Amino acid sequence: MRRGLVLVHHGVGETDPSADPAHLVAGVGTLAAQLDWLAGRGYRFWSADELARRAAADGPPPGTAVLTFDDGLADGLSVAAPLLRDRGVPATFFVCPGLLGAQHELVAGPRGRLLSAEEARELGSLGFDLGAHSMTHPDLRSLDDGALAREARDSRARVEELTGRPCRTFAYPYGLFDARVERAVEAAGYEVAFAWRPGRWRRFAAPRLPAPVRRGGRRLALKLARSRLRR
Ligand SMILES: [Zn+2]
Repeated sequence: MRRGLVLVHHGVGETDPSADPAHLVAGVGTLAAQLDWLAGRGYRFWSADELARRAAADGPPPGTAVLTFDDGLADGLSVAAPLLRDRGVPATFFVCPGLLGAQHELVAGPRGRLLSAEEARELGSLGFDLGAHSMTHPDLRSLDDGALAREARDSRARVEELTGRPCRTFAYPYGLFDARVERAVEAAGYEVAFAWRPGRWRRFAAPRLPAPVRRGGRRLALKLARSRLRR
């Protein structure tokens, strides 16, 4: 049986490459091809919340794929959500409640717009899972204990206000954390916190595979195979 995996995307949509120098926006066709590739290989899809409820200790079971989108870009609602709904695929959007309606620091132009509070609420009401990505997307390692605790706790509370549901999952901004950050996130009441790199499962340093932003299924297959060789 195929090993379970958690994928991380950021934006989805067509964009001028000069507006996206960090390659954070996947083409629509690329995301569609990845979903079709996974479905074609028999993967079933879980949200990160389902993973936290059912398999927090062990990670995604074989044959399970968890789709996550970091930063709360507005195209999560306008582009990704319809594509996911067409295929009946759940997903988790990690949002920064302190940055709702702002501009992404690395994506220029309209494609870099972040979800407003109303749009984040709508994404939740469509049945998508919202997780916390801190309030303001700092490198959490650089904060003092008080500020660190606020970033972790307040973002959980604000996401719960947006969705009306428990917020069990967190994603570290930039994938950066250390032992003190892990403890603060656990103390804030989360069940699972996600890093940004593949590796062994740990609840508060949960591995993810950055999904390729170009060329769909074949590139994903290659990346998966490589991440396994590196284990
Ligand atoms: Zn981020």
